[in-house]
Amino acid sequence: MPSIAITPIVASHFATDGGALFGLVPKPIWSRGLPANERNAVPQRANVCLLEWPDGRRGLLDSGCGDPAWFSEKEQRLQAMPPGWPLLQALRDLTIEPDTIDFVALTHLHWDHAGGIGRILEGQLQLTFPQADYFVHAQEWHDACSGNPLLYKSYPADVLAPLQAVANQRLRLIESDRTTIAPGLTMHRSGGHTRGHCAFELQGEPMHLQHPAADAFGPCIKAVYAGDVCLTAHHLRLVFQTAYDTFPLDTRAWKQQWLPRIADEGMVLLFGHDPDRFAAHIAADPRQEFVVTQSL
Ligand SMILES: [Zn+2]
Repeated sequence: MPSIAITPIVASHFATDGGALFGLVPKPIWSRGLPANERNAVPQRANVCLLEWPDGRRGLLDSGCGDPAWFSEKEQRLQAMPPGWPLLQALRDLTIEPDTIDFVALTHLHWDHAGGIGRILEGQLQLTFPQADYFVHAQEWHDACSGNPLLYKSYPADVLAPLQAVANQRLRLIESDRTTIAPGLTMHRSGGHTRGHCAFELQGEPMHLQHPAADAFGPCIKAVYAGDVCLTAHHLRLVFQTAYDTFPLDTRAWKQQWLPRIADEGMVLLFGHDPDRFAAHIAADPRQEFVVTQSL
């Protein structure tokens, strides 16, 4: 097994309506963990992972919301997006050029996960990572490109356009429900949040979490990047799920299948949207179903 280096990166800062983020759960309960502001919004991050293999291969799990300058002033205000693009700044700080990213693997194609795959450069909309292959589940690609009005506003045309333009060369559609796309990196279709939503399982011996507090956090042999089926540490309980989930029971089924395994096997759970944590170890709890025992 390869020794993959995992660098968690905040790709975007934004805010979402707290009710939408917790679905059926009453505000007096969810707001204990994640207090809302006067507009009922809660802070979120788009946490992505930079993966590096010993042979020099580099990949990203998800890409965040993209360049805030892409959004209208009203959208930036409503979504509390500060100016500047944290993903590109973080890569710059790591002296990583976008054209050295070999692949981008996407949990799904909602704007807050796939918005970073395109950017406007010299007046042209183009791929942010021009040399990368883009892994997406075929079901997700189909739904995102379908123009289905029932999928209201989830898949803005601009987000997909740069990838659609070069789909023959760059798009890697995953047909099966479980596919290893790089050594130690497996894409599992979860469904739930969207029909084609995938979580990523990482295995290595051991992997290196690149974070100042990683030593105290302990070793990382296996990890799961759960995307939006368990987006923050506040979503560990079965019914704590977003109102955006198109197949809510499948999100719960994913948690029912994976959270006990993550706890029992000491896997690291990586959160796509937690405003305070990139990762956690979890344990079963008789009252709360699962609790965080350690976080990063
Ligand atoms: Zn999301």
